[in-house]
Amino acid sequence: MKVKVNKDACIGCGACAAICDDVFEINDEGLSEVKEEFEVKEDGFSEIKRNEDLFQPVQDAADACPTGAIETE
Ligand code: SF4
Repeated sequence: MKVKVNKDACIGCGACAAICDDVFEINDEGLSEVKEEFEVKEDGFSEIKRNEDLFQPVQDAADACPTGAIETE
């Protein structure tokens, strides 16, 4: 699974980090980002392969984002 936060769309509501703080965190700018421990690919997506248990929470966070800022593949 891969995930990316579109920072132009993020409004910093914190919902994603509240749902899945293993993957998402709010940075110093008040916007969400995928934690650095997940490798960022050339296409800007971060690879979530450490633990399949994270797949559903990541998708739940994407579904809950009020602006649709979180893309998953
Ligand atoms: S849920 Fe969406 S808008 Fe809210 S912090 Fe996360 S990415 Fe940003």
